[in-house]
Amino acid sequence: MLKENLKVVQENIEKACYKAGRKTDEVTLIAVSKTKPLSDLEEVLDAGVIEFGENKVQELCDKAEHIKSPVHWHMIGHLQTNKVKYIIDKVTLIHSVDSMKLAKQISKEASKRQVDMDVLAEVNVAEEESKFGLKLTETIDFIKEASKLPNIHIKGLMTIAPFVEEPEDNRPIFKALKELAVNIDSCQIENVSMDILSMGMTNDYMVAIEEGATMIRVGTGIFGERNYKI
Ligand SMILES: *Cc1c(COP(=O)(O)O)cnc(C)c1O
Repeated sequence: MLKENLKVVQENIEKACYKAGRKTDEVTLIAVSKTKPLSDLEEVLDAGVIEFGENKVQELCDKAEHIKSPVHWHMIGHLQTNKVKYIIDKVTLIHSVDSMKLAKQISKEASKRQVDMDVLAEVNVAEEESKFGLKLTETIDFIKEASKLPNIHIKGLMTIAPFVEEPEDNRPIFKALKELAVNIDSCQIENVSMDILSMGMTNDYMVAIEEGATMIRVGTGIFGERNYKI
C-alpha cells in the first residue's frame, strides 16, 4: 500500500517538474514518518527512500536507533535548545532554525563534537501566529549574524505554508520564499548558500515544485492519515 502511495507521489513530482521545466533530480522527497511505526518506515525504505523527516527529538532518536540502514534524518519540527545535543550527530539537516539562541546552541554542540551541521532558516512567510519561524523582513539580518558562527552552515530556507483547501492559494507563499532566497543569494554572504528550498507538503507540493522547491516534505501522501490519539 505505502509503495503504491509513494509511486503516486513520485509520478506527481515528475509531472510538476515537467510542467515547470525542471529536472526530477532537482527535487528531493523527504518522507515525513512522524507518528508512524518502524514497519512503515521499513516498507518505504525498501522502496528506495532514504530521506526521512521527523518533528520530535525523542521520536527521531528512537527511530534512528532502530533503523540500521544508512538513512538521512531531517529534523523538521520546532527544536528546543536543550535538545540540540541529542540530535546533533544523528541528523543530516535541521530545517527549523528560527532564532539566534538556537543557532548558537547548534554551533556550540557541533563544535563540541567536531562536526559540521547543515541547517535551514525557517521563515514564517504568512506570519501565522500559531507557527514558528522568522519574519520575511528579519531573515537576512538573522542569516548574516548566524553565518559567523563556527560549525554551522546555512544551506537555504524552509517554510510551512498555511493549511488551505486550495493548493493554489499557497503559490504566493512559495514565490515569496523563493524571492527571498534569490535576494539572500545575491548578498553573497560567506558560509551561506541558498541551494535548498524546503517547501511543500502533501496538500501543495506540486505547486511548491513549480515555484522552485528543492525539498518537499510529504507525510500523509505516503503514509496515510496520522492518528495522534495514542
Ligand atoms: C507533518 C509535517 C509535514 C508533512 O505533512 P503532510 O501534510 O502529512 O504531508 C511536513 N512538514 C512539517 C514541518 C511537518 O511537521
